[in-house]
Amino acid sequence: RKGIRIEGLSKRYGQGDTAVFALKDVNMQVAPGEVVGLIGPSGSGKSTLLKCLGAVIDPTAGRMVLDDEVIYDEGWKVRDLSALRRDKIGFVFQAPYLIPFLDATDNVALLSMLAGVPNAEARAKALELLTALDVQHRAHAMPSALSGGEQQRVSIARGLVNRPPVILADEPTAPLDSVRAMAVIRILNDMAKRFEAAIIVVTHDEKIIPTFKRIYHIRDGVTHEELGEGRGFD
Ligand code: ADP
Ligand code: ADP
Repeated sequence: RKGIRIEGLSKRYGQGDTAVFALKDVNMQVAPGEVVGLIGPSGSGKSTLLKCLGAVIDPTAGRMVLDDEVIYDEGWKVRDLSALRRDKIGFVFQAPYLIPFLDATDNVALLSMLAGVPNAEARAKALELLTALDVQHRAHAMPSALSGGEQQRVSIARGLVNRPPVILADEPTAPLDSVRAMAVIRILNDMAKRFEAAIIVVTHDEKIIPTFKRIYHIRDGVTHEELGEGRGFD
């Protein structure tokens, strides 16, 4: 596993007089096993960067390598984006987006089943993650019966179930108290180590910012790298 590499990435929305450069020559590298923070004010380009990395939108120029695969290079891009998203990228969103008619376990197991893992095995993996996130007692609850924090932890488990080499997390701890926020950071660090995942966490959460060893600050589409406090998560 090779992590994430972004070189000279730019993204322009619109044309001519109304064009907005949301990303300007962004360079970024996240090693396998590393969890980095991405921090910036509203409108700075965080969502745009995550959407480019997640192959949800196309960048305007530059190069992106996920794991060992060049996914975009100056206008050229991989053909099968949906397979790429399924196999290489774990998404953890701000809102849980759980499927309302599946219980917590099946919400987590679904992506694994779709990737061809036998149901029993997929459910066992799901339960292991739910246990690590301390929601195993809700394994058979439907989403509507879960609290906001429980839904969030189930959705985090779902993003990790295929052990993706790249994990993109958008404000994963926003609705959680500090004990649970730390548990989420712990499991992301654990995933990074155990599966050599490269993880980017977009956050404003003051509780978790001191845990990062490295932080990318973004402002008006320009990134600056800084060392974080790197206090870890215990
Ligand atoms: P953040 O996630 O940090 O709030 P965004 O990536 O959403 O920032 O936005 C970066 C800039 O790009 C902002 O100026 C925003 O208004 C602009 N922008 C984002 N999405 C679009 C879009 N679909 N069309 C036009 N402009 C956009
Ligand atoms: P976030 O809360 O993730 O920063 P925003 O509220 O900035 O997201 O944007 C929500 C959605 O609207 C995103 O999909 C973004 O791309 C889009 N968007 C943001 N700014 C603009 C804009 N100026 N024009 C069109 N779409 C925009």
